[in-house]
Amino acid sequence: MSDKTRGQTLKDELFYKKQSAFEKKTAAELEEAKTYAAGYVKWLDQSKTEREAVNASVAMLEEAGYRPYKIGDPVKAGDRLYLNNRGKSLFAVHVGTEPIENGARICAAHIDSPRLDLKQHPLYENDGFAYIKTHYYGGVRKYQWVTIPLALHGVVVKKNGEVTDVKIGDEPGDPVFCISDLLPHLAKDQNGRPLGQAFTGEGLNVILGTSPFFEEDGTLTPADEKAKLNVMIMLNEKYGITEADFMSAELSIVPAQNSVDVGLDRWLIGSYGHDDRVCAYPALTALLEAETAERTCIAVLADKEEIGSDGVSGMQCVLLADILDELAKNLGGNPNVVRAHSMCLSADVTAGYDPNYPEVYEKRNSSLIHAGVGLSKYTGSGGKGGTNDASAEVVACVREIFDEAGVVWQTAELGKVDQGGGGTVAKYIANHNIETVDIGVPVLSMHAPFELISKSDLYEAHRAFAAFCK
Ligand code: MN
Ligand code: MN
Repeated sequence: MSDKTRGQTLKDELFYKKQSAFEKKTAAELEEAKTYAAGYVKWLDQSKTEREAVNASVAMLEEAGYRPYKIGDPVKAGDRLYLNNRGKSLFAVHVGTEPIENGARICAAHIDSPRLDLKQHPLYENDGFAYIKTHYYGGVRKYQWVTIPLALHGVVVKKNGEVTDVKIGDEPGDPVFCISDLLPHLAKDQNGRPLGQAFTGEGLNVILGTSPFFEEDGTLTPADEKAKLNVMIMLNEKYGITEADFMSAELSIVPAQNSVDVGLDRWLIGSYGHDDRVCAYPALTALLEAETAERTCIAVLADKEEIGSDGVSGMQCVLLADILDELAKNLGGNPNVVRAHSMCLSADVTAGYDPNYPEVYEKRNSSLIHAGVGLSKYTGSGGKGGTNDASAEVVACVREIFDEAGVVWQTAELGKVDQGGGGTVAKYIANHNIETVDIGVPVLSMHAPFELISKSDLYEAHRAFAAFCK
């Protein structure tokens, strides 16, 4: 017999109560999250650019029996296929046995992250220092990128099409790179500037080397630009490239550190690039673990989200619709019906409530670290501008799927109204007449070189996708 009053009982029945995974789950279930996280960090540390994330994901897909597919290839029920889109985005498809006109379940996330891209003529010398010039990619807070160890990742493509992978700064024994900052003793003027103006885009110049080239006889070269010459010779010896090859390269400066547990209890993971690889990995693993082969499921790992989703590897490209059309064509369905009956969980990180900065959050509607994967009916900014505002009907459908599977989830709004905001790829998928809902893992210090997420929220993202793909 409960000795609760009628009011207390009614309150329990009528009120919504958000609970963290620690309140909802057993010790054994919590342990599963830590085990799952070990796989994530292994994949994450191999995936510092979208190209590297594609490579690491293709390896997992191949291991699971998926095979390469390109537009125009024949498709049949039961196929497990992946489309590697120019090495920069990835579509993995598990073709179901039920009629394709029932629609597909799509799990989408992005694998590009904010960083400093090299300019096309990056290399220069100034007072004996060899520098590279950068153009930042995505929303970076520039002050966070100075005085930290940096790595150089990417590809150089020669005129003959030969692709050379570049990766310096992450292997044991590698040197790293750095952007210097002023000493406090001389920072009076800089300290007086607003944070957003204290560091400039043109000031994010990375030290590549500081010594001159010596001739074979050990004497200093008489050539000018001695330090630039020295690093160019080293790059040429290592990668066979010349300065002109930078013009057809995609090279990025990324943080050099690998991911690491944060906190004595090891429940947080600190890393570069959780946004949005912390959603991409769960989307991929959910597809790989999908047990039933009836429903067609697709995992989409997109590029270019951080700069607007434009171009052939961004979600504004029609490729997803093309793939659905190809499935319809091959399996005997009307492509418009396939899209109309498809549904998408568009996953992107959300701003986790940060107790250290409560002033920018509306706590009631913010996602909390450890309280599960976030579901955002809407994102956007300035009065819901630029969002797929999912309908109540489709949110209800997802609620039912998550609750049925015991997923720990919560709603998520990105901070206070008019404090800022942000968008996701959800609207581009919904534009194809595909019902789409935003979900995502809460992150602290989003877009910083070292972002924080909860292992428990990561695992619930996986469980949410798995329930959706069932
Ligand atoms: Mn994102
Ligand atoms: Mn982002």
